[in-house]
Amino acid sequence: MINNVSLEKAGHLLQNAESVLIFPHINPDGDALGSSAALCRVLRNNGINAWVLLEEDVPEYLKFMDTEFCTQDQSCIDEPDICVCVDCSEEKRFPGRVDIFNSGRLKLCIDHHVTSGSFGDYYYIDGDEAATAQIIYKLLLAMGAEIDSCVGSSLYVGISTDTGNFQYSNTTSDTHIIAAELLKKGIDHMGIMVALYQNRSLARVRLESMIVDRMEIFSEGRAAVSYVDSAMLEKVGAMLEDAETAIDTLRDIEGIEIAAFIKEKDDAVKVSMRAKYWGRVDEIAVRFGGGGHAKAAGCTMHMAVDEAIALIKKEITNYLEK
Ligand code: AMP
Ligand code: MN
Ligand code: MN
Repeated sequence: MINNVSLEKAGHLLQNAESVLIFPHINPDGDALGSSAALCRVLRNNGINAWVLLEEDVPEYLKFMDTEFCTQDQSCIDEPDICVCVDCSEEKRFPGRVDIFNSGRLKLCIDHHVTSGSFGDYYYIDGDEAATAQIIYKLLLAMGAEIDSCVGSSLYVGISTDTGNFQYSNTTSDTHIIAAELLKKGIDHMGIMVALYQNRSLARVRLESMIVDRMEIFSEGRAAVSYVDSAMLEKVGAMLEDAETAIDTLRDIEGIEIAAFIKEKDDAVKVSMRAKYWGRVDEIAVRFGGGGHAKAAGCTMHMAVDEAIALIKKEITNYLEK
């Protein structure tokens, strides 16, 4: 853990602010949005002018969440008292909002990624927490805030999505205890499960089948790589976010220890990597300027898909053979 502020102090600062702008990372996932939404809702309940600032639309699969206070309007707050980045701790994780972040009178960072260092005026970064939502839960307790079913649902989405619905090695007794406390708040557990995991569009399923078709298995069956490009999306009428779960399908194959998935996006490629049991993908991602966690990491590469695949395959092969 690296921190220069306690959750009590961070909570005190937030409660005494008049305006707070919340920054989840780009391509926000369930944890980034869930953590941000929960914090925003509580601050609003306390009469604070709070918004969640995004640089893209809320992904379709997360629109069921409490995203009422998400905006792309960079002038929603003039000179915010506090800017807080959530589930990220580097400017490159919110590249289109850096100037606004720096316009905050005070900059706070709440995260669980250990590959980044200290960040902001005040930071609380705990890599032992499975999800930033777990830290937000503890922050809300420290603030003495009421966690109602709305706030609880957002936190539950964050914890569920970052632990692969309680499958991954980051899942601890603490994770289950917090989840149990959230269930006691009367959240709609099944509604969240269906929305997150049992709601795949046909286009998504068809896209995944194409991705599996193009997959390469290498390093003696221990690694898998595949990709998605705009032509594939067009063919099945899917959106890029429909490729979000393909990486799990690659990792879940018998014998695979490391999976990589490459998404063509504008003039760059976004690489997602997963390790199953003993492997560490953060070590591979940092070699390409990225980061993340031991079992889930990523990076952005400015090159064509086939070049990225060749480099990633080489690095994974080296890693698995060492
Ligand atoms: P993803 O594959 O996009 O789900 O990302 C997996 C993990 O890696 C997440 O915890 C991300 O925060 C982290 N990550 C992804 N891309 C990057 C990047 N370009 N730089 C740093 N961390 C990243
Ligand atoms: Mn995240
Ligand atoms: Mn997270």
